[in-house]
Amino acid sequence: MANSKFITLLHYILLDVIFPSFCVYCGKLISNGDGVCNNCKSIINLNIKNYSGEYVFSLEEEIHGKRKWFLDDGVWLFKYEEPVTQLVYAMKFKHNKSIARLFAQYCTEAIDIMKWHFDFITYIPVSKDRLWKRGFNQSEVMARCIGKRYNIDVLNLLNIKNEKIAQKKLSGNERFINTYQKYEIIQDTSNIADKSVLIVDDVYTTGATINECARLLKINGVKHVYACIVAYAMLKELII
Ligand SMILES: [Zn+2]
Repeated sequence: MANSKFITLLHYILLDVIFPSFCVYCGKLISNGDGVCNNCKSIINLNIKNYSGEYVFSLEEEIHGKRKWFLDDGVWLFKYEEPVTQLVYAMKFKHNKSIARLFAQYCTEAIDIMKWHFDFITYIPVSKDRLWKRGFNQSEVMARCIGKRYNIDVLNLLNIKNEKIAQKKLSGNERFINTYQKYEIIQDTSNIADKSVLIVDDVYTTGATINECARLLKINGVKHVYACIVAYAMLKELII
């Protein structure tokens, strides 16, 4: 056992020498494994919001009526502004898994505060094309770190069945229309019936995605759906 720990340590030391890490915000050489130096970490403000989803777009209301909010509860950790925007960018587009692990630590801080009880964890899926380009789904990495911390299984429950235009190119109203029926449940749902599920996601803009995924979980028998989302942004603030 001691031997395998030593080998793991040696592995990380060698990785640091061969592939040194730099802070994604200021560029300084780092050895903390978080993707961000301690100095930059100190300016990240955990600004937890507990949100009830009252934000409704006019066209959405016209088409679907007032939004039915399917989340039982949710926490949003950071306002989508510097340095968090930079961190999200590095995580999503620079293949930086360390940032996903760091965000997962913040998620557990918020989840501890909320005192939710959940049986499973899942995450918002990304398209096959994005997965191929990025090499990993950042929300899945976060979900798996959170699962490890609480010793709770992470299930791959959702899939994108209809890969349309990327959400970021759309207006708020268009996002709702695009998101509706974009996802599907991909596994036998007997084990999630009457259970509580936590969904993990990175950036929240209109709530269309998280709400649709929560709706699918609910119509497939899940009793409670909670969400932990790293950053929240108004559409005009979304830069990526
Ligand atoms: Zn830094």
